[in-house]
Amino acid sequence: MIVDTPMHTTPDPLQTDIQYLKGVGAKWRPAFRKRGLETVGDLLHHYPRRYEDRSNLPPISELKLGVPATVRGYIQKVGSRPTRGGKVIIKAVLTDGTGSVALVWFNQPWIKRKLENYDNELIAYGVPKQEDWVFTMQNPEIEIIEDEEDADQFARIVPVYALTEGLPQSVVRRAATSALTKYLDQIDDPLSAAFRAKHKLRPLTWCLKQIHSPDNMENQKEARRRLVFEEFFYMQMGVQMRRSDAKHQLGITFRFDGKGESDETPGGTLFTSAQDVHVREELQRLLPFKLTGAQNRVIGEIFDDMQRPMPMNRLVQGDVGSGKTAVAAAAILAAIRCGYQAAMMAPTEILAEQHFSNLRRLFEPLGIHVALLTGRLNATKKKKAQQQAASGEAQLVVGTHALITDSVGFAKLGLAVIDEQHRFGVAQRAELHSKGTVQPDVLVMTATPIPRTLTMTMYGDLDVSVIDELPPGRTPIKTLQKMPHERKAVYNGVRKIVDEGRQAYIVCPAIDESEKITAQAAVELHRTLSTDFFPDLEIGLLHGQMKPIEKDEVMERFRAGAIKILVSTVVIEVGVDVPNATVMVIEDAHRFGLAQLHQLRGRVGRGDKQSFCVLISNASTEDGVERIRTMTETTDGFKIAEVDLRLRGPGEVAGTRQSGTLDFRIADLVQDSALLEVARQAALEQIEDDPHFEKKENAALLEKIRQQRQDWSVVTVA
Ligand code: ADP
Ligand code: MG
Repeated sequence: MIVDTPMHTTPDPLQTDIQYLKGVGAKWRPAFRKRGLETVGDLLHHYPRRYEDRSNLPPISELKLGVPATVRGYIQKVGSRPTRGGKVIIKAVLTDGTGSVALVWFNQPWIKRKLENYDNELIAYGVPKQEDWVFTMQNPEIEIIEDEEDADQFARIVPVYALTEGLPQSVVRRAATSALTKYLDQIDDPLSAAFRAKHKLRPLTWCLKQIHSPDNMENQKEARRRLVFEEFFYMQMGVQMRRSDAKHQLGITFRFDGKGESDETPGGTLFTSAQDVHVREELQRLLPFKLTGAQNRVIGEIFDDMQRPMPMNRLVQGDVGSGKTAVAAAAILAAIRCGYQAAMMAPTEILAEQHFSNLRRLFEPLGIHVALLTGRLNATKKKKAQQQAASGEAQLVVGTHALITDSVGFAKLGLAVIDEQHRFGVAQRAELHSKGTVQPDVLVMTATPIPRTLTMTMYGDLDVSVIDELPPGRTPIKTLQKMPHERKAVYNGVRKIVDEGRQAYIVCPAIDESEKITAQAAVELHRTLSTDFFPDLEIGLLHGQMKPIEKDEVMERFRAGAIKILVSTVVIEVGVDVPNATVMVIEDAHRFGLAQLHQLRGRVGRGDKQSFCVLISNASTEDGVERIRTMTETTDGFKIAEVDLRLRGPGEVAGTRQSGTLDFRIADLVQDSALLEVARQAALEQIEDDPHFEKKENAALLEKIRQQRQDWSVVTVA
C-alpha cells in the first residue's frame, strides 16, 4: 500500500476520522458524531458501560425476580395494543426452550416493525418482574443478530456501550474491534515505564484492549484501575500545578502578632507598615466567649498564611454553629491592624446584614469603620458605601458576593472572606483575583461539609482548615421522625416549648419548581396554624415571594421574640442565628436533600437549651427513607455529606458542574475515592521529582497535561 504522506509530518493516528474504521463508513459516521465520537481516539476512550459474559448466559427458566439478566432466544409472537392515552404498548414473547419471558415496550412502534419478521436469535437484557403470573421485562435492551460476526459475540465477554438512538451495539462493537486491531500498536503511553512500575499500572495499550474486549473480568478490573488512576492523576496534576502557580503570584506579607517588622522581605512582595499588635489577644478581649481549640488552631493556620508573601487561598470547613464568624473576624482584624481593608461576602442579603450587624457590634468599639453594601440599599446609601470603600474610609465592607465583585473598587484591599463557598464558583474566585495586581488573601468559609473526594477535585487548589469542634455547652439536638397523622401531637409539643419561652421554626418544602406555588403552600400552612392551632400566638411567615423589606420586618420580629413561631420555606436555610429558637419542624422532610436538611437543622441547637428537630415524613422511596434515617442517626456533617454524595452523586452535591472538573470518562468519585488519594499523592511526588518537566521520560506526560489543561482556565505550564 502506498500512502501519500509527507515525510516530515507524523499525524496523530488517533485523530483519524472515525469513518475509516471497518463497518463505520459514511453510513454510520453521522450517528457516531451525534454521540460525540469523531475520531479513532474518541472511540478508544469511549469505554463500555457494562459487560455481559455471553459464554455463560442463564436459561430463561432460571431468571430471578428483580435480578437483571441477559437472555437469548427466539421471538414467538409480537403484538401491540393502544393505551388510553393514545400511546402504544408492544409485547413480544421470547423463548429459549426452557421457558419464556414477555418483553414489553411503551410507545416504541419501530420495535414492532423490527421484530415482526425477525427469525434469528435475539438477546435481551432487563430486570424480570412478575405480571399476571408471567415473567416480563419492561423496556429491555435488545440486540439483533444480523450476521455471522454478530453471532461470534456469543462465546465471549461482550462490551455494552452507551448509545444514542440509531446507533446499534453491533456497529459500535465492530468499530471498536477494528480500532483496536489497527491502531493499538501506534499508541504511545504518556506514563513512563518507570512511573507505571512504581504505581503498579499496566501499559496503556494492554488496558485499552482489556477494557473494550476483556479476556476475563480480572483483566478488565486491572485495566479499569489504570484508566481511572490516569484520569485522576491528570486532574490532580492540573490542580497541583495551578496551586503552585498561585503560590508564585504577588501577594501581601502581613506583619502582625507580635512579630513586628522583619527585614527579610522576599523580593517583589509588598511590605506593609508593621503594627506590633497581638491580634489574637485583642480579638479574645472583644469576644464574650473563649475561642475553642479548633478555632484557635484554624486562626493560627490563617495567620501563618497571611504572614507569607504568597496570596492565601484557604478553605475553612466548619459545621453549622462551629463558630466560623469568629475565625473570620480574627483574619479581618489582622488585615485591618496591618493597614489594609477587608471584604466579607455573603450569598444572601439576609446573611450579609446579619454579618454586618455582628461585625459592627464587635469592631465598632475599636473605632473600626464597617460599611454595608447590598442590593436593597437605596442608591444614595449604596454610592456612599462604594465611596467609603474606594477612599479607604471603610476598613471593612460587608455585602453580597455579586455587589462586591461587580461594583467595588477598594483603596487597599488586603483580605476577602467569602462565606458559604458552594454558592460561589471558581470563576468568581478568579475574578476577585484579577482585580488588582497584588492579590488579596482569600479565605473561603463553608458550612456545608464537603466529602474529601470533592474537596480534592473542586477545591484542590485551596489549602483546607477544618473546625472540628463545637463550642462547649451545646446540648446535642434531638432529631425525631413523626408520621403525618401525628402532626397534632407535634404541634402540641411546639406549644409546650413556646409556653416555656422558646421559639420554633416550621418549614414547608418546595413542592414544585415554582417559587410561587411553594409560597402558596407556606401561606396555606401559616393560615391553618394561625386559625386552628395557635390562634393566640403571633405566627410569622417568610417565603421567597415577599418583598425584602417585608422579610426583614418578619426576621426582626422573630429575632426580637415577638413572633413565636416562624412558618417558612427554605429561605431561612443558611446562616440565620436566633439562639432562642429551639424547635425545628420540617414538613414532608423526605422532599429535602440531605445537605438542606442538615442546614435547616443547624438553625436550632445554638444555645444551651435542649433543641429538637422533628421530621414529619412518611418517606416511601429507598432514598427518602435513608435520608430520614441518616438525619435521625447523626448530626455529624461530614458523615451526612458522605451519604449525600453516595445517594446523589458528585455533580448534584457540588451544586454546579464547575468547569467540567467532575466530568470523568470512567472514574467514579464515590466508588474510586481510595484511588483518588493515591493519584493525588502520585501527582505531588511527580511535581516534586520533576517540577519543570525536564526529564525526557516525562515529555509525553507534559504533552498530555497541556492538552487537558486547554479547557481549564488561564494557567500555563511552566
Ligand atoms: P457558623 O460556623 O455556623 O457560622 P457562628 O459563627 O454563627 O457559626 O457561631 C454560632 C454561634 O456560636 C454564635 O452565636 C457564636 O456567638 C457562638 N460561638 C462561636 N464561637 C464560640 C465559642 N468559642 N464559645 C461559645 N460560643 C461561640
Ligand atoms: Mg456562618
